[in-house]
Amino acid sequence: MRGAVLYGPRDVRFEERETPKIMKPTDAVIRISATCVCGSDLWPYRGIQPMAQPTPMGHEYCGIVEEVGSAVTRIKPGQFVIGSFFASDNTCPNCQIGYQSSCQQAEFVGGAQAPLLRVPLADGTLVATRDVPSENSIPNLLALSDVMGTGWFTADAANVKPGKTVAVVGGAVGLLGVLSAKQMGAERITAMSRHETRQKLAREFGATDIVTERGDEGVERIKELTNGIGADSALECVGTQQSMMQAIQSTRRGGYVGYVGVPHGVELNVEQLFYAHEHLHGGPAPVRRFLPELIDLVWKGKINPVKGFELTLPLDQVAEGYRAMDERRAIKVLLRPTR
Ligand SMILES: [Zn+2]
Repeated sequence: MRGAVLYGPRDVRFEERETPKIMKPTDAVIRISATCVCGSDLWPYRGIQPMAQPTPMGHEYCGIVEEVGSAVTRIKPGQFVIGSFFASDNTCPNCQIGYQSSCQQAEFVGGAQAPLLRVPLADGTLVATRDVPSENSIPNLLALSDVMGTGWFTADAANVKPGKTVAVVGGAVGLLGVLSAKQMGAERITAMSRHETRQKLAREFGATDIVTERGDEGVERIKELTNGIGADSALECVGTQQSMMQAIQSTRRGGYVGYVGVPHGVELNVEQLFYAHEHLHGGPAPVRRFLPELIDLVWKGKINPVKGFELTLPLDQVAEGYRAMDERRAIKVLLRPTR
């Protein structure tokens, strides 16, 4: 089997890797229908996040179950399934309260940029669709695996409710945060973006306003749009000091910040936070909590999360996929293994 391996900064190779197989009775092996390059893959790709050794890449996946271990009862070969980047048993106390990404048995699922993938804790991790989906809906279902599931969690964590005002900071996840906020009934959604194509998409997903300024000026603009008090909810989907401060400062007293950008060098001043009177809630999205509901929304055609922003490439062109994301020629790259 050939799959993507990151060797170092800007060095992704499509090369021979060991074929995944059942290692524990709770595993499944799935044949990947589609996978993605994630914004978070760009941290090690750009050398910002150091790596100890060459690493198989990819953590967004959907596909057909090939084989299951002897202890797997719910998931069956032939089913079309979607999972998230953390395997979870879906039964422990943390899973039971909806934090499957903090499962007591959580295991990172990596190496999905390949034709086959081993998924641990298959019964808890994977959610099957009612039928094998049409080719057209595969990109939308794949999006639920991370980018859409994470966007949804940000809005949920930021307590987005009907009639609320929402400010959104961030790329592909941010766009889907906009879509999620719209679905949840937010009245005014401001996307903070300087990129024309992203602004246009944000509007299509439900943004009512666009703010192009950053820093203090960006915060001022949000205040102007919210009667001087700030947004009820802010969604932080980048993970830099600047984006985190943008979100915190754009939020009103008593408001909520949902943050899902993997933090890189972000430091908060607790004294400032103390007087800001805000709720902060974030972390690796417990995508598994939302999968059944989101699959239903896609199945009924109520959400279309990859509406025109994905670039689809054959899996063997994965290196070009990373380049396109790195150079901002694509917002999200989808990879399809060829048969
Ligand atoms: Zn658990």
